[in-house]
Amino acid sequence: MLLDLRTIYFIVAVSCVVLSALQFAAYATGRFERWPLWWGASNLLVGIGSFLVALRNLVPYYISIDAGNVLTIVGYMLMFFAVRDFAGRPVNRRYFWLVIICGSIPVALFISDPLAISERLLYVSIICCLCDITVAKEAAGIFRREKLYSAALLLGLYMATAILFAVRSYLAATGGIAGPDPFGGSVIHSWMAVSAVAFIMLRSMAMVLMAAERSRNQLIELAHHDPLTGTLNRSGLAQQVSELDARPMSLLFIDIDHFKQLNDRHGHAAGDRILQLFARVSKSIIPAGDLLARQGGDEFLAVLRNVDRQEAVAIANSIRLSFAAAVMQMPDLVTFPTLSIGVATRGNDATEFERLLQKADEALYRSKREGRDRVEAFGEDQAAA
Ligand code: GH3
Ligand code: MG
Repeated sequence: MLLDLRTIYFIVAVSCVVLSALQFAAYATGRFERWPLWWGASNLLVGIGSFLVALRNLVPYYISIDAGNVLTIVGYMLMFFAVRDFAGRPVNRRYFWLVIICGSIPVALFISDPLAISERLLYVSIICCLCDITVAKEAAGIFRREKLYSAALLLGLYMATAILFAVRSYLAATGGIAGPDPFGGSVIHSWMAVSAVAFIMLRSMAMVLMAAERSRNQLIELAHHDPLTGTLNRSGLAQQVSELDARPMSLLFIDIDHFKQLNDRHGHAAGDRILQLFARVSKSIIPAGDLLARQGGDEFLAVLRNVDRQEAVAIANSIRLSFAAAVMQMPDLVTFPTLSIGVATRGNDATEFERLLQKADEALYRSKREGRDRVEAFGEDQAAA
């Protein structure tokens, strides 16, 4: 069925301008970074460009064809800027504007003949196809780094339009879609333009979904972590432990000795720095993928997967000694805090995590009773260190 291409171009133009107004409004709320600004600018330019192209044969060619195509290409390239900004990756602006100028000006300078329809369609389609591929690459990076499922959606949308533009380039090169008057009747061309409207909408929705998914992930991250030390907090640990199916497993219950005295003597800020130092030292020793959580105050838990009692005691001692060495390096300290650690281990049995926690707690208390600055393992009568 033949659709009126000029009408479709007007629909594209109106859709883009409405979307750009929404994106500028979103940016004006101040709740987003700069990407809605670039995305809005992109839609606005593509909208104005499509509007001018739709005026072909009604206004002078240098307005409808030259200005229309240049604006469309510049707007199209700005989408890359928006997605890159969303990804938080730097853009070499000078280089970027140079690419935009080099990419868009040839339409006006070298293909300005109004009858060179195939050449212009071919050129614009190739540029848009390349843009889509670079944006798709950026979306793949966001998906890989942040695990945003909506970034995979954006990637799929841009790959689909890249393929559409590749087909359009082929048809333009072989004369399949460019008659003497492009508005005169190519069924494929008009349906491709219709699909453009759908893709413009879907891309904007995917960007909004990405922003929402990222905010949700950031909130979960905040809710599950201790802001002072960056370790998991209780709810973060509970959530991660519920997903763990590791046996054997060892638990270290770690408490800083006489921490209250240190606070009283050196002040709360110094106490905070000690807590942060402890977290840094412990993270550097605990095997990658294992968990460190702040249980509250000066108490921490380390969950070590597939680690038996002997290995767990060795790791606990390594944390204790490294922490002791690190606090020695801190300036202006008169009292040097030490660590008491209780260790509990489960083998291949089905001991509940809560029961393991109780055992580690008991071992910790024995460590305190025996004089502090030591490691005790549950079930061992003798001191482990
Ligand atoms: P023990 O050797 O028996 O463990 O004695 P302690 O003084 O370490 O233990 P206690 O539980 O009496 O004191 C813990 C202190 O930790 C009390 C509280 O003021 C301090 N504290 C809790 N949270 C924070 C924090 O976020 N920052 C700082 N600087 N201190 C904290
Ligand atoms: Mg303590």
